Order: sequence, then structure tokens, then C-alpha cells
Amino acid sequence: MSFENLKLDPKLLAAIAGCHYKEPTDIQRQAIPVALEGRDLMASAQTGTGKTAAFVLPALQKLLTPSASKGRGPRVLVLTPTRELAMQVTENIKQFSRDCRFTSGSVVGGMPYGPQINLLRQPLDLLVATPGRLQDHMDSGRVDFSRVEILVLDEADRMLDMGFVDAVKLIAAAAPASRQTLLFSAT
Ligand code: AMP
Repeated sequence: MSFENLKLDPKLLAAIAGCHYKEPTDIQRQAIPVALEGRDLMASAQTGTGKTAAFVLPALQKLLTPSASKGRGPRVLVLTPTRELAMQVTENIKQFSRDCRFTSGSVVGGMPYGPQINLLRQPLDLLVATPGRLQDHMDSGRVDFSRVEILVLDEADRMLDMGFVDAVKLIAAAAPASRQTLLFSAT
């Protein structure tokens, strides 16, 4: 099976080729078709198995169709347990969207608020966040969840271990009920 078989857009296929990926990994083969159909997904995948591309690629494909909604908030929201993982996901988004005009950014703990507040004022396609910091911004009314089409919970088990359960629940409840949810967990 090749990436072409997964019916990904030529812009994404070109970016994948630029990463020198020869074929999809197991998790990509299994998760990408389900995600592209718009279905919710719960998948078990460890770091190092290619799980990031398994949700970033279908999310980018969805963004290639313009939003019908007028809001400015993110259309894709990825929650990760740590700042480091958020940075890796942001990096992957940039790699795979090199031929697309999407705006993306991250809102994570341990970083200054100023640039994050400015980011949240801009129209955004993708936002990668750690739950605690995103909840801070949410409590101050700075996050527009009205356009969220895909909510990704990356390393969901670690988010729970780190005590983010209430923040994750609040954030999920703020996103439209019609959204697609993609949950990845190592256990
Ligand atoms: P991840 O599990 O998403 O952290 O990915 C682990 C590593 O595998 C990263 O360095 C990715 O760039 C790489 N990777 C992801 N998908 C593929 C693939 N289909 N072929 C080769 N390497 C990949």
C-alpha cells in the first residue's frame, strides 16, 4: 500500500515525498481512511509509530475545503500533554502543509502569554495546545471554538495521567458537537 492509495491530495503527497516516506506505517494505513471519512477514531499508538502524520494528514486534507463558517477560531484543534510534543506536532504540520496556505500555531504552558494572545486574535486554521494553558485562555474568553471541525487528543492517556482530565473535558464541551474526534493513546 502506498500513500497514493490513501486518496490524499497531490499537495500532501508532494510534501510526503519531500519527507522521503516510502510507504504508510501501520497506524497511518489504518487511521487515515477512517479519519478521511469523517468518522470518530480511537487508536492505540506509541510515539515513534508515525501517529502524528496519521492525524495531521487527514486534518490538512479537510482544511483544503474552505470553511462555511465565518468565525476566526481554529478549524483543527490538537491537544497534547506536553510542550515538547506540541512543538513536534506543529513542526509536522508545517512540513506537510508546505504547499498549502494554512495558518497554525501553538499555545502551551511555560511560554509567555503575549504572543499567544496575539496568535488567538488572528484567523487560524490549526491550533496545537496543552490543555492547562488553553483552558487559561478559554477562561479569559480568548478562544473561539465555533469553527472546530476536528478535535485531536494526542497521547490521551498521558493527558489523563498528568491531571488534565477536567481541562480536556471543558475544552471538548466547548467545541461544536458536530466535530470529529480523533483520540490517540499509547495504552
Ligand atoms: P511519530 O510517531 O509521529 O512521532 O513519528 C516518528 C518518526 O517517524 C518521525 O520522525 C516521523 O517523521 C517518522 N515517520 C512518520 N511516518 C513515516 C513513514 N510513513 N515512513 C517513514 N518515517 C515516518
